[in-house]
Formats: sequence, C-alpha cells, structure tokens
Amino acid sequence: MPARLPDPAEESPIARTRRARRMLRLLEERYPYAHCELDFQSPLQLLVATVLSAQTTDVMVNKVTPTLFARWPDATALAGANREEMEVVLKPTGFFRAKTESVLRLSADLVERFDGVVPGRLKDLVTLHGVGRKTANVVLGNAFGVPGLTVDTHFGRLVRRFGWTQETDPVKVEAAVAALLPRKDWTQASHVLIFHGRRTCHAKRPACGACPVARLCPSYGMGETDPVKARTLLAYELAPGAELPDPPPGPLSDDVDRVR
Ligand code: SF4
Repeated sequence: MPARLPDPAEESPIARTRRARRMLRLLEERYPYAHCELDFQSPLQLLVATVLSAQTTDVMVNKVTPTLFARWPDATALAGANREEMEVVLKPTGFFRAKTESVLRLSADLVERFDGVVPGRLKDLVTLHGVGRKTANVVLGNAFGVPGLTVDTHFGRLVRRFGWTQETDPVKVEAAVAALLPRKDWTQASHVLIFHGRRTCHAKRPACGACPVARLCPSYGMGETDPVKARTLLAYELAPGAELPDPPPGPLSDDVDRVR
C-alpha cells in the first residue's frame, strides 16, 4: 500500500517532519486514553515504580507497589528498609535482589543529596543510582509536567520502522525524534508510541492490516496485512468499549500527498 511513500533515506527533513506529525495525530486518535501505565501518587513513587518496571510488566509493578509504599512511605524509610523484607515484597517483579539493591541505593542517594525529595531536573535525576535518561524522562513528563521523550524498546523499534530515524543509540533516537515533534507533544507522543508498540506494532508480528498509520509507514507489509487476520493480532488490555480498532486501512488516501 505505501509504495508511493518516499524512501526515508531520500525524504526531505520537512516532508519527514510533516509525515511524523501526521502519524502522531493518527496515533493519538487511535489511543486517546494513552497514559503512563504505572500507578503512582508522587514523583518518588513513579521513580521507584519505573526502576521496578525493568524486565517486567507495568501490571506486575502495580501489584507490588501498594505494599511497598505502605510499608516504606518515603525516601528515608525506603533507604532504611530491611533488605530481606523488601526482597520478599519485590520478588514477583523478577530480578528482585538487584531491584532491591537499586531501590535502597537510589533512596539513599535521595536522602543524602536531595533531602529525600525527587529533583525535577534531568541533570539531577540522572545522577541518582540506576536512573538513566529514559527513567528520568518518565518522571519529568508524568510527575513534573516537563515534556520528555521516553525511548524504551517499543519507542525505538517503532520510530525506526516509521522511518523517522535509523539511529539505534537511545540518546540519538531521542534527539532525532525531538527534532521532528513539538516539545509540548513529547510526553504524550511517548505514551501513544508505547501503546502502539504494545498493542499493534509488535516486535515479532506487527498487525499492519489493522494499523492506523499504515498509509504513512514505509515498513507496512513487514507484518500481517490481511485486515481480518491482523485484527486477531491486536493485543488490547480492554477497558469495556474503550479500545476498538479502527476500520482496516483502505486504498491509498490523499494522506501521503498531503504530507509531502
Ligand atoms: S504495524 Fe506495520 S504499518 Fe503499522 S507502524 Fe507497524 S510496521 Fe508500520
């Protein structure tokens, strides 16, 4: 279908920017409810939850954090927690010894250098134990309202498939996408791309035939293109009536011409 799309390598920067913004609008229409899927009530809770989300699902993290934060409600309490006790609480998230170590050291960092308060600046957040740009941007975007791009595995895979960038280094991916999208949209763009990666554009078998950006995606066809079969691949965590797939993409509309 998108045979008329320009080769991303030959696409002008302006055309790529317009195409990226059009794709983002379509994805926002598909996932109007996209949000941070980790439960939290404070920057500290989100910071810890994000650290715990490595190698597991947000759903699993959300199961353990109520117990964690009820038992140790602030950075001082977390820093002084009994290691074995915390390991028991974190065990369901996997890699629980390493995660316990991370939470203890991160909390100690906060107490020693920031009076137990999560800083609201990227340059401070990334000095904390176990906190990289991805985690820092999650916290800034969702707990502080500071726009940030969260380059996780879904985000990186999708922007390469989209032909927005061919970079693989997360910092370079972040810079390339930041140049394409308005700053105010960065946090929500992160959410909708991650939703799209989890629900439609899967790593192994993307559901191209049920994809809202198929007409603008140079990778269309790498997954299932039959609309009926593609719909069976959609992975929804259904809120009743809330997440309904779009109609299958039809013949090329004028979308492509409009973004050139
Ligand atoms: S599902 Fe297919 S068409 Fe849609 S973004 Fe992924 S690769 Fe492109």
